[in-house]
Amino acid sequence: MRKGYYGKFGGVFVPETLMPSIYELEEAFFRWWRSRDFRKEFEGYLKDYVGRPTPLYHASNLSVRCGLTLYLKREDLCHTGAHKIINALGQALLAKKMGKRRVIAETGAGQHGVAVATAAALLGLECCIYMGADDVERQKMNVIRMDMLGAEVRGVETGTRTLKDAINEALRDWVTNVRTTHYILGTVFGPYPYPQMVKEFVSVIGREAARQIWKKEKRLPDVVVACVGGGSNAMGIFYPFLKRKEVTLVGVEAGGKGISTGHHAARFQGGKVGIFQGTKSYVLQDSNGQILDTYSIAPGLDYASVGPEHSFLMESQRVTYTSATDEETLEAFFLTSREEGIIPALESSHALAYVIKNCTRWKDKLVLVNLSGRGDKDVETVSRTISP
Ligand SMILES: *Cc1c(COP(=O)(O)O)cnc(C)c1O
Repeated sequence: MRKGYYGKFGGVFVPETLMPSIYELEEAFFRWWRSRDFRKEFEGYLKDYVGRPTPLYHASNLSVRCGLTLYLKREDLCHTGAHKIINALGQALLAKKMGKRRVIAETGAGQHGVAVATAAALLGLECCIYMGADDVERQKMNVIRMDMLGAEVRGVETGTRTLKDAINEALRDWVTNVRTTHYILGTVFGPYPYPQMVKEFVSVIGREAARQIWKKEKRLPDVVVACVGGGSNAMGIFYPFLKRKEVTLVGVEAGGKGISTGHHAARFQGGKVGIFQGTKSYVLQDSNGQILDTYSIAPGLDYASVGPEHSFLMESQRVTYTSATDEETLEAFFLTSREEGIIPALESSHALAYVIKNCTRWKDKLVLVNLSGRGDKDVETVSRTISP
């Protein structure tokens, strides 16, 4: 495969002014990722700061209810409540090794911003988070969190005042301040080397899960299920299983109000191949190449494109991609809360919804779900759906 490509997907589609930063990052990542000291330091933080390895939990009540053996990889127990801290810490540590004293990031719902602000506080880095002005209004709690962690939150007033505009501002900042600043991208997306680097960081999820399920069940799972926004928690848990063809891998996108309504974020059902934010992948766009508005009840899945390696895994049919609607997701959210005493993130509830919908198909099978995050952040959204 060509460097930076996954089949025909991926690559580096950025303005000339950004190329030096991309080269510098690529060189630094591969150098430090080979360094034993870097790995040791990273693993040290994952263990004592993030709280890894996260448990692999046998969800016995849901298992009985569904007639299968269900295990949950408990990423909800990570410090800050989701897998996002792994990548944020990896990149913040790399930034420090590169001699940068400042990190920047963009955030939609604020989850990635909180993870970056956390890592920056820990490592003594200056931190600036770009966020669409409308998102700043909608996600007050996370804005307060970032502020308490010592980060500066810059509301972006241009364009649609959401994530897309925040990304543009963050890139402008990066070009201007590249000598001092590293841009922490939040998922397996964007120009190479980001998709590769983020995958390497988050694949700790799958390595742990493979070891843990082997220990408990003396075999590999029949199916591994994860939700897919940009695709990092899915790539993290899939990666170590990719070569084991006997393991079925399922990625669940946001079906929103239903694919036929157009209000969704299922890139593999309604999307086309295009170039968006530095990479070639599936994108929800109209026939003129205009990016479509997306919708999901889960903010982390509400995005017009998807990591390029997922597009490759879809076309090569190694991974099956499907979607769950908001309604199915809410049902899974409540069922998991009541049966297991675990309130899952709405993103992760999409993966659970797939299992609940497909109980019969996976009867008596060994099923592994990546519980990417906890649902505390979502309780207000969910309570609005039951008491209008
Ligand atoms: C952000 C987020 C996601 C989606 O991002 P991926 O890169 O697809 O993993 C999924 N689950 C949770 C809990 C999140 O916070």
